[in-house]
Amino acid sequence: MSQNVLASAAGVAAQAGRRRTFAVISHPDAGKSTMTEALALHARVIGQAGAVHGKGDRKGVVSDWMAMEQQRGISVTSAALQFSYRDTVINLLDTPGHADFSEDTYRVLTAVDSAVMLLDAAKGLEPQTLKLFEVCRQRQIPVMTFINKWDRPGHDALALLDEIEQRIGLRPTPLTWPVGVAGHFRGVVDRRTGRFIRMERSPGGSDLAIEEEMDADEAARRYGADWDTAAEELDLLAMTGADHDQKTFLAATSTPVLFGAAVANLGVRQLLNLLVELAPPPAAARPTVAGTDQPVDGPFSGFVFKIQANMNRAHRDQVAFMRICSGRFERGMIVKHGVTGRPFTTKYAQQIFGQGRDTIDEAFPGDVVGLVNATALGIGDTLYTETPVQYPPLPSFPPEHFAVVRTSDTSAFKRFRRGIEQLDGEGVVQVLRSEQRGDQAPVLAAVGPMQFEVATYRLEAEFGVQVKLDHLPYEVAARTDAAGREILRTESNVEVMTRVRDDALLALFPHRWRLRTVAGRHPDLRLDE
Ligand code: GDP
Repeated sequence: MSQNVLASAAGVAAQAGRRRTFAVISHPDAGKSTMTEALALHARVIGQAGAVHGKGDRKGVVSDWMAMEQQRGISVTSAALQFSYRDTVINLLDTPGHADFSEDTYRVLTAVDSAVMLLDAAKGLEPQTLKLFEVCRQRQIPVMTFINKWDRPGHDALALLDEIEQRIGLRPTPLTWPVGVAGHFRGVVDRRTGRFIRMERSPGGSDLAIEEEMDADEAARRYGADWDTAAEELDLLAMTGADHDQKTFLAATSTPVLFGAAVANLGVRQLLNLLVELAPPPAAARPTVAGTDQPVDGPFSGFVFKIQANMNRAHRDQVAFMRICSGRFERGMIVKHGVTGRPFTTKYAQQIFGQGRDTIDEAFPGDVVGLVNATALGIGDTLYTETPVQYPPLPSFPPEHFAVVRTSDTSAFKRFRRGIEQLDGEGVVQVLRSEQRGDQAPVLAAVGPMQFEVATYRLEAEFGVQVKLDHLPYEVAARTDAAGREILRTESNVEVMTRVRDDALLALFPHRWRLRTVAGRHPDLRLDE
C-alpha cells in the first residue's frame, strides 16, 4: 500500500471520527422543529468567530434553508441539515412527522448513529415517540433524551424518569438536573461537576441563552427552596446510581437525560456538547451481506435510505439520499450500483443543506448526499467504488394502513402491474398479495396514509393508470408463518396476506386487542409485531 493511500485512509478515519449523525425522535408538537433551529442557530452563532454573544437570528437559519430549497428544488422537510460545532460535523437527519409520517420516517433511523428522544415535559412519552423508539431499540441505536418545554408547567422530573424506565426499559441517567419545577426553571446542575448553571432566556428569545455558572453554595444562597428540592433529588439520584455510563449508553440500554426549553435555547448548548462528547461517530466497521465488515476508512461505500420523487409533472426528477458508510466521496466520481454492478456517475451529487451555499464537493462517512436523477436506484441499494460491497436490505416496517387498489381500465392492466412493481421496488408502499382477492387487486400497505397519495398520484402521472383505493378495516400487522395462516383461517376479522417484497406472511387485525385475543386463544401461534 502506498504512503498516499495510508495517509488518505487515516484522513478518512479522522473525518469519520468528527461526524455525529443523528435524528430527533418525537411526537408532533414536542418541539422538534424548534430544537432543530435552536441547534443550528447555536452552531452558527458559535461558528462566527468572536460572535458568541452576537446577534443570532433564528429566522435567518430557516430562510437559509428555504433559499437553498428554492435554488436546488429539494424539500427542506426531508433531508439532512449539516453544521459544525466545536471541531465536529453534525448531520441532523429529518424524521417527518404529522401528516408526513411514513415508512421513510422509520427508514431515516437506518442511516443514523444515534437519536435524540425529545419529550414534552407536560406529556412525557407519546405514541409517535414510542413507535420511533421501538425502531431504535431494534437497531440498538443509542438514545439521548431531552426533556423539553421546562419553561412551562409539566410533570415532575423524577416522574418523567420513572416513566422512561417503566415504559421503555431504558435506564435514565441525567447529566443535568433542573432547579425549579417545570414552569419556574432557574437552570440546571451539571451532575458531573456539581456546579449550577443559571439559564435565562435572552431578550426576545431568538439569541443564545444567557448562562452563568456558580458553585453549589452560591446557588443555595440564591435559590433557597428550589435549590433544596433539587439537592434532595440529586441525592436520590446518586443513591440509585443513575449515573451516566458510556458502555450501556452505546449498548442502547441507558439514556443520558437533559432538561431545557428549545424555544428559549435553554439546555441546547448542553445537548450539542453531549453530541460531541458522548454520541458515537460512524462505526469503525459495518457488517455486509457477505459476512465481512466494511472498514470505515476502506474504499467508498454507502447506501440509499430514502428516495424522493418530485411530484411536479414539469420537473419529474428523483433524488436518492445516500448515507456514506466508508471512504471519501467526491462529486463526479463513478460509483457502482450494488444490485447490478453497473457504473453510475455522481455528477449531480448534492450535499443537501450543506453549510453555506456552495456545493460541497466531498463527503465522508456519516454524511448524507442527495443524488439527483438517480432513477436506477432503489431503497436500500448499496453503492461502492472498488471491491463490491452489499449492505443488508433495509427492513420493512409494520404497516398500519391497508387498501385494495384496482383499475377499472382493463386495457391498462399491464401498466398497472408495472407501476405497482415499480412503487414496491422503490419502497413507496408495501404491496401485499391476498389469496382472496387475486392478482388483479393487490393490497397496498403503508405506515402513513400519505404513502397512498403518492402511490395513486404516481400510477396516474407516470403509468397513465387511473386507480381506485378501497380502504380495509385493519390497523395492525403481525408476522406469522404457514402454520399460523392455517390456524387463522378459523378466526373472523383476520386476514393473512403475503408481502411481495420478502414473501413474509402478514396477519392483519382490526385492532391490537383483537390480535391479543387471538394470540391468547392459540398459544402456539406465531405472531410477531
Ligand atoms: P414539532 O411539531 O415537534 O416540530 O414542534 P414545533 O417545534 O413546531 O413546536 C410546537 C410548539 O411548541 C410551537 O408552538 C413551539 O413554539 C412550542 N415549543 C417548542 N419548544 C418549546 C419550549 O421549549 N417551550 C415552550 N413553552 N414551547 C415550546
